[in-house]
Amino acid sequence: MSGVALTTEQEQLRASFRDFVDDRVVPVARDIDSNNTWPSDLWHDIRKLGVTGVAFPPEVDGDGGSFLDFVLMIEELARGSAAVALLPAMNVLVASALMAHGSRSLQERYVPRLVRGEIKACWAFTEPATGSDPTAITTCAEKNGDEWVITGGKTFISHSSVADIAVVFCRTGERLTAIVVETDQAGYQAGPRCDLLGLRGADTGEVWLQAATAPLDNTVGDVGDGMAVLVAVESEAKVRGAAMCVGMARAALDASLTYGLQREHRGVPIAKKFPTVQALIADVHAQVESARWLTYRVASMRDSSLDPAADSDFVCMAATAKLVASQAGVRAASQAMQVHGAYGYVNESAISRIYRDVKAYEMIQGTVEIQRVIVARELLRRTRIA
Ligand SMILES: Cc1cc2nc3c(=O)[nH]c(=O)nc-3n(C[C@H](O)[C@H](O)[C@H](O)COP(=O)(O)OP(=O)(O)OC[C@H]3O[C@@H](n4cnc5c(N)ncnc54)[C@H](O)[C@@H]3O)c2cc1C
Repeated sequence: MSGVALTTEQEQLRASFRDFVDDRVVPVARDIDSNNTWPSDLWHDIRKLGVTGVAFPPEVDGDGGSFLDFVLMIEELARGSAAVALLPAMNVLVASALMAHGSRSLQERYVPRLVRGEIKACWAFTEPATGSDPTAITTCAEKNGDEWVITGGKTFISHSSVADIAVVFCRTGERLTAIVVETDQAGYQAGPRCDLLGLRGADTGEVWLQAATAPLDNTVGDVGDGMAVLVAVESEAKVRGAAMCVGMARAALDASLTYGLQREHRGVPIAKKFPTVQALIADVHAQVESARWLTYRVASMRDSSLDPAADSDFVCMAATAKLVASQAGVRAASQAMQVHGAYGYVNESAISRIYRDVKAYEMIQGTVEIQRVIVARELLRRTRIA
C-alpha cells in the first residue's frame, strides 16, 4: 500500500476523543502519576466510550470498526496520559489472543466480556530472570486430573492486581503454554506495585502463583503453543505501543509550543526569539510526523492482512513501527524538555512525566534491540544474492 488517508468518520472519532481527553484525562494525569494509583473512574468512562470493543466484530459484541480506529483512540488517550491509554490495551491484547488461538469455549466465556469491558485482563509473560527469552521462563504448569496447577512468579505485570483474568505463560515440559487463570483464587496473589520511573498508575507489579488452578479447557491454543500465541498478538500490541508513543510525542510538541510562547527573554517569547528553540520545536514535530504516519500505515496493514500473525510483512513492519515510534517519542520528549530549560526537569511538569512515560516504550512489548533483531532477521531472510 502506498499511504494512509483517514476517513471523515475517523477524523470525527479523533475529534470527539480529543475533547474527552482534554476534559477528563489531562486534568488528572499528574495525580495518577504522582500517586501511582490505578484510575478506576476513567476505566468506566473508557468502557462506555467503547474503546475495548471498537476493533472487534459484532459477533463478540464489538463495534466492527478497524484496528486503525483503535489506534487513533489509543493515540489520543496517550496524549493525555499513557497510564490511561493502557487501560483498554490489556483487554484488547487478551481478547485478540483468545480470538486468534482460543477454543470456542474460551472465546464464549471471556471475549464478549473483555470486549464490553465487564472484566479486566492482564498478560503475564515476564519473570524476574527474563522478559526477552522464552527459554528462561520457569513458571510451570502441571496437569492434575482435569485442571492445571501453576506455580511460579511473574514481574512487571500491568494491571496485576485489578485484573479478573490473567494469561499466564508457563513451562509445560520443553515448551511454553499460555493458560487463562482467574485471579479470584488463593493461588493468585498480586504482589506490591513496582515503584517505576514512569507509566505510574498502570498497576504494574508482581504476581505470585502458588498452586493456582485453571481448567485444562483454559489452555490458549494447544499445549506447547505458547510462543505461537505470543507471536500472534505481540505484533498487534507493538502497533498499539507505537500509537501510544505518537500520542506522547504529540503531547510533548504541544507542551514545547505552549512553553516556548509563554516563557520570555527580555520581553520576547523564547520560541519567537531564538532560532535554537525553533529548531528544537521543528525537530519534535518531525519526530511526531515520522512516527505517526508509519504507525497508521502499519495499523492499516493489520486491517488488510488476512492472517496478521503469519504475515511476515506485517510482523516486520510492526517491529519497525515500534522501533521508530519509541525512539522518536523519547527524542521528542527530550527535545521538548530542553525547550523548558530547568522547569522541564521538575518532577511535576507535564513534560517530565511524558519523558519518563515514553522511555518505558524502549523496553516494553519487546526492547528496541529485540525489534532490531526481528526486522534484520526478516530483511536478511528475504534477501537473495547471486
Ligand atoms: C512499565 C512496564 C510495564 C510492563 N508490563 C508488562 C506486562 O504487562 N506483561 C509482561 O509480561 N511484561 C511487562 N513488562 C516487562 C517488559 O516486557 C520487559 O521488561 C521487557 O520485555 C524486557 O525484558 P527484561 O526487562 O527482562 O530485559 P532483558 O530481557 O533482561 O534484557 C536486558 C537487555 O538485554 C538486551 N537483550 C536481551 N535479549 C537480547 C537478544 N536476544 N538480542 C539482543 N539484545 C538482547 C535487551 O534489549 C536489553 O537491553 C513491563 C515492563 C515495564 C517497564
